[in-house]
Amino acid sequence: MATGIKNGRTSQILQFAHDIDAVAERYAVAITPLMQELIDAERSDGPISKQFVPDARELDSAHGELADPVGDGPHAPVPGIVHRYPDRVLLMPTKICAAYCRFCFRRETVGQQGEALLPARELAAALQYIREHEEIWEVILSGGDPLVLSPRRLDKILTELREIAHVRVVRVHTRVPLVAPEKITRELTEVLRKAAPLFVVLHANHADEFAPQGQAACARLVDAGIPMLGQSVLLRGVNDNAAALEALLRRQVENRIKPYYLHHADRANGTAHFRTGLAQGRALTAGLRGRVSGICQPAYVLDIPGGHGKSPVGPDYVRERSDGVDVRDVNGCWHAYE
Ligand SMILES: *Cc1c(COP(=O)(O)O)cnc(C)c1O
Ligand code: SF4
Repeated sequence: MATGIKNGRTSQILQFAHDIDAVAERYAVAITPLMQELIDAERSDGPISKQFVPDARELDSAHGELADPVGDGPHAPVPGIVHRYPDRVLLMPTKICAAYCRFCFRRETVGQQGEALLPARELAAALQYIREHEEIWEVILSGGDPLVLSPRRLDKILTELREIAHVRVVRVHTRVPLVAPEKITRELTEVLRKAAPLFVVLHANHADEFAPQGQAACARLVDAGIPMLGQSVLLRGVNDNAAALEALLRRQVENRIKPYYLHHADRANGTAHFRTGLAQGRALTAGLRGRVSGICQPAYVLDIPGGHGKSPVGPDYVRERSDGVDVRDVNGCWHAYE
């Protein structure tokens, strides 16, 4: 009988290894040493493990899932650019990330075959596109994770952007400060600082991601005068309860990071096990309003499938009446406002 149990366990482990191979064949897999440390320290299905350890369910495709859930494709005038709103563009200089999120909305391109860096000729064409479109006020470096680039390469891109008169603001979307804080060197920080006004938007989904090293990396950026915003994805089993969400938002503000967006999880292939219902997200965010400081409140947004952009989908506080409006308070009671 003892042998039976042992064999059962071995075949389970073999099945697990087989599943991981199958997932890794289809999607990029990487976990940084620091995230591995956090995974080793938490329970086996803890919030960091869930985000980074491959799962056989990624091979399933659920109804409504898409290869390009946010509709980047229809808005890509040249490689490396997504131009959906008049005054801002995404510029994607790399397809690489330090660690790959199992729920990544760009998982069919990020970390996939092909060039890790946007080839020099295409980067030049992307910068030329920005130069030729004077309505572009803001450039958002995204990807991939722009902070995996060497400081020298990043400096070149930021210097070229700074020379375009109509580009007034730069934003960098990244997970690096928490997943690979050793990359936030003095040199990199200086490159970002001198590109001011530049905002770093940190992707973080659980309070436990803020290891001491990660918090120190964020402090280096903020101490250098770089403003930081936070963006998170609402993820089933990771942060879809009031306590976890509240802890995440407070942890961001404690690190001088203003929560900006809470994204409803996009319908990327093989990510159904991460998605919550929209009604659940609305109830969760409604509950935050009274309990958590105003500076901790993110906007709950949905990127409408098909490339229609992001819309706030949080709770409603106003309802129209014939002779005025009703306004809802944090306890859910409505009050007439004439
Ligand atoms: C999310 C996104 C932006 C940024 O939107 P904000 O609401 O300004 O944060 C810009 N362009 C594209 C294509 C996007 O997907
Ligand atoms: S950091 Fe962003 S782009 Fe990279 S794997 Fe995670 S969700 Fe995808």
